[in-house]
Amino acid sequence: MNKRRCTAIVLAAGSGSRMKSDVAKQYMLLRGRPLIWYALQAVEESSVIDDCILVTGAEDISYVKEEIVARYGLRKVTAVIAGGKERYDSVYNALQAIADGDMTNPEHNGYVFIHDGARPFLTEEILKRCLAEVEKTGACVAGMPVKDTIKIADSDGYAVQTPERSLVWQIQTPQVFEIPLITAAYESLMQSRDRQTADGQGITDDAMVVERFTGHRVKLVQGSYENIKITTPEDLVIAEALLQHNELSE
Ligand code: C5P
Repeated sequence: MNKRRCTAIVLAAGSGSRMKSDVAKQYMLLRGRPLIWYALQAVEESSVIDDCILVTGAEDISYVKEEIVARYGLRKVTAVIAGGKERYDSVYNALQAIADGDMTNPEHNGYVFIHDGARPFLTEEILKRCLAEVEKTGACVAGMPVKDTIKIADSDGYAVQTPERSLVWQIQTPQVFEIPLITAAYESLMQSRDRQTADGQGITDDAMVVERFTGHRVKLVQGSYENIKITTPEDLVIAEALLQHNELSE
């Protein structure tokens, strides 16, 4: 079977307000390189990914083109586009860019790998596992079984439910879909917001959009416990430690 075209969407248009830093978190330096470089470099070196759309804040586009894409020679990044207010707005903009086809093949019938730019520990193994699964199922997301017991709380902060731990996963990215499926799901989401039947509130990942607006099931694929999202300042300390550990074990 010929491998279908795989386009990565790397998201870096968040404000990073939980980082409490003057520099946007995606450009903070981690061992001398901007945080966003790590995910982009994994994409660059990957045998799975053919091209990449990078989504940033509108005001950062020229900086990112010069200081990150050109500077580090990231040749798979075919477009740097502006994101939107919410994560799902940023994803929708990228899906529209693919549909417009001005930076990718208009007959693109392959897969899209949606990845948080704030997850620097993307690996070729994770990308390969996702490709193998999406070829079988059409929709899959990386994640890991939780290590802690999870409780559902009521609005007063009392525990009301304890899901069986072996069935609870923490969800990561990449989130990988056949392009027509994810495009149709996002079109429904955006239309439902326009019609005000659902405001899209609480949409925190792409699998939710597919689950909510299509009948398609989403398969969970093993990511890794290292595939963390850098959200708050202590995550940077963990990331530094992981990088050091990985260097030592190379
Ligand atoms: O906010 P959250 O932690 O869910 O963000 C996950 C990823 O989505 C981050 O890489 C962030 O830059 C990106 N994002 C985006 N556009 C937004 C909000 C978040 O590209 N409006």
